Amino acid sequence: MKITIAGAGAMGCRFGSALFVAGHEVLLLDGWPEHVSAINARGLRVDDPGGSRLVRVPARAFPADEPADLVIVFGKATQTAAVAAAATAAIGPSTLVLTLQNGLGNIEALRSHVPETRLLAGTTTLGTELLGPGHIRALGSGETVLGALQASPSDHAERTALTLSAAGLPTRVADDVLSVIWAKVAFNCVMNTLCAIASIPVSALACYDGFDELADSILREVAAVASAEGVAVDTAAALRLMKAQFDPAASGDHLASTLQDLMNGRPTEIAHLNGAIADRAQSYGIEAPLNTLVTQLIGLLEATWPRRVTRLHPNTQ
Ligand code: NAD
Repeated sequence: MKITIAGAGAMGCRFGSALFVAGHEVLLLDGWPEHVSAINARGLRVDDPGGSRLVRVPARAFPADEPADLVIVFGKATQTAAVAAAATAAIGPSTLVLTLQNGLGNIEALRSHVPETRLLAGTTTLGTELLGPGHIRALGSGETVLGALQASPSDHAERTALTLSAAGLPTRVADDVLSVIWAKVAFNCVMNTLCAIASIPVSALACYDGFDELADSILREVAAVASAEGVAVDTAAALRLMKAQFDPAASGDHLASTLQDLMNGRPTEIAHLNGAIADRAQSYGIEAPLNTLVTQLIGLLEATWPRRVTRLHPNTQ
């Protein structure tokens, strides 16, 4: 199968390299010139628990120039509209487009580039880090869940899930994929952003006695917005899932992506997490003060991160 990865950062490289090794004709499309050059010069270096190897998957800079059977969109949520526009030529009359990105707004951004009958969406819990140009670290195991956005007699979702699973990316199909996406948004609106605000690894949240109350307040606002869009978010299940991550064996020293973005001086996806909840709440006339505050605090951190104080001034008593 001919597969184009539109946005080949950490996750795009992970999916693209696995599909390439499984025998597909894969092209990594990306906008970072040094990354594309490094991959083409010596291959993509993939470190995983089994060791380190070079994968000779081809890469090129945007834009795309020919249609693929499947386009997997993997830029940050902030980049989806631009990535989709630069990948337009890869989307032919029978191309399937799949987004597994985090946050709200990706589906909306892709709808203008592909009919909903050929648009698949979902989530993945596979963790991957981009260590430098042409170099990723694939962390442990995880599951990918995807589904069609429109009930249809076609088996696009099933076939795509089989393709990914056969490449060592375990994937299942969900009938109600919007619920799955919203559950992950709910999780990230609490765990991802609170860990960034506190500058802590996920497991350190267990130290805070007020976590349940704070998480529940944020989650109620998320659930109210989801409900206005016809999606049910189970806040009790979301809270249980979060607390399961307190076990260092589950989350280890994992740093939330928002915190990693701040540390790397890169824009966060906050506008597609708590920011999207705050905006959508306003449009539905729903109160969402906590999500608004979390969005503002992450904005404050983005603006001031290089000036944050990390140790006492020598003259401070
Ligand atoms: P990423 O930051 O690795 O890559 C996104 C884009 O940014 C790529 O085009 C990449 O080339 C570019 N980029 C990265 N570093 C750069 C640099 N220093 N200079 C210039 N360009 C740079 O993003 P990702 O982690 O692959 O995430 C893609 C989507 O998948 C996001 O929505 C994310 O939330 C989601 N996701 C990520 C993970 C994960 O473990 N990484 C897990 C699940 C979901």
